[in-house]
Amino acid sequence: MVTNPQKAFTAELKRYFRNQGQRVVSKLSRAGSGESHPPQLDADSLIDVESETQLLRDGVRPHLARALAAGAVTGLADVEKAFKPAKKSIEIVSRILIGAGLPDELRPQLMVALTEIEAAQYWMQIGESTRDSIAALLDEAKEQGWDGLKLSAKIKGEFKAFATDRAEMIAITESVAATNNGAMRAAVYAQQKNPGSVIGKAWRTQGDEKVRESHQKMDGVRVPAETDFTLPNGESAAYPVDIRLSAKDRCGCRCTIQAVVIKKGDDDYVG
Ligand SMILES: [Zn+2]
Repeated sequence: MVTNPQKAFTAELKRYFRNQGQRVVSKLSRAGSGESHPPQLDADSLIDVESETQLLRDGVRPHLARALAAGAVTGLADVEKAFKPAKKSIEIVSRILIGAGLPDELRPQLMVALTEIEAAQYWMQIGESTRDSIAALLDEAKEQGWDGLKLSAKIKGEFKAFATDRAEMIAITESVAATNNGAMRAAVYAQQKNPGSVIGKAWRTQGDEKVRESHQKMDGVRVPAETDFTLPNGESAAYPVDIRLSAKDRCGCRCTIQAVVIKKGDDDYVG
């Protein structure tokens, strides 16, 4: 299920890839390889990965912040529910909607999280992979003797494909990651506020047939808030879609964490 914030995130990335395509194509035509002769350009002169990455970060920032905050609000609500079952769910929803309800002490931690997410090499890699696709098209243009117009059309097609395929995959993956990150920080915060209890986080899959096998094995696994999960292949993650996970365990994952209170006598109680 794609949520409304994920749709908005996807729309942002679609716009980004479309505009990026226009920037690349207009550089191409300014370079004067417009008509008959094959263009003599390299990908780096058509796409400046650094400034493109800056634009990407500016665009995704509000979406990441929103996902982080939503995750934290849900995380706190989970803890509250775990202490007092079946309570206040309507209040929780309205809190998410008005974007409030986060304790003052938690907000700076979410800002730190946002800064960490933005600093990840990942965003630069998106630009690098775009540049590599353009480089491949430039090679093909040379081999096939395409003129500038044909190359322009191919580049436009490539960016259109990015807007359809990559935009949604990135938006969903990164919004699930940020939401889980926010929920994890809420659980850690709740642990600090409740030293007498063990606040944990439970790995939750979407429970359908699309869940990858390695994550099926993680469903329901609980660890203390500040402890990493260990996946079947030995990788560590603070939460599903943690940036530390390999692409195989990360891309398109929809797993979430639920903040839980681990009680004395539970198998995984750590006191
Ligand atoms: Zn998963």
